[in-house]
Amino acid sequence: LNFSQFNFESSLNEGLDAMGFDKPTPIQEQAIPAILAGKDLIACAQTGTGKTAAFILPVLNKIAQSGSTGLDTLILAPTRELAIQIDQQIQGFAYFVGVSSIPVYGGGDGVVWEQQKRALESGAEIIVATPGRLIALLAGGKIKLDNLKHLIMDEADRMLDMGFMDDILTIVNYLPKDRQTVLFSATMPPKIRQFSKKLLNEPEEISL
Ligand code: AMP
Repeated sequence: LNFSQFNFESSLNEGLDAMGFDKPTPIQEQAIPAILAGKDLIACAQTGTGKTAAFILPVLNKIAQSGSTGLDTLILAPTRELAIQIDQQIQGFAYFVGVSSIPVYGGGDGVVWEQQKRALESGAEIIVATPGRLIALLAGGKIKLDNLKHLIMDEADRMLDMGFMDDILTIVNYLPKDRQTVLFSATMPPKIRQFSKKLLNEPEEISL
């Protein structure tokens, strides 16, 4: 089976061709239809399985379909490196689909901080953020998330290990209740299950 099974918009299919994505990986086979269907989802997947595209492709397809309706998707990641990596993968498709994404992470200097703030004011459909830095922006009134449609958490186990649980719960308070929530994690310890019960609504579960 190839990507045509998902009936993506032609602009996204062109992006897949350009990126040399031929066939979906197993996690993509399972996660993409669930996310396209609007379900909440818990997915257990390791790095290298194509997990990033598993959550960005369905979101990009929805934006390609509807056109921009403002800030649509928040992706939370544990580290600056991962946030940049996810953002870069989105950028690879953005040219074709016509969406913009902004990475928001801590560290760096005041210049980076100013750039991130300015980029946010310019409007984007997708924000890829580490929790601590996003909280600072929310507290400063720099981002409005009340029309958000999708919350995606990547490497959720690592975010909890790094002590981001309270930050994530604070961020969720700024989001509409009527949203789709997707959680990816490399491991599924009980604390991840408890955490997902708080944030997800009757999630589908997939594990490879
Ligand atoms: P990830 O597991 O998300 O870190 O992805 C690992 C690498 O696989 C990334 O460089 C992706 O660009 C690439 N990749 C993801 N899905 C596919 C696919 N269906 N076909 C070819 N390469 C892919």
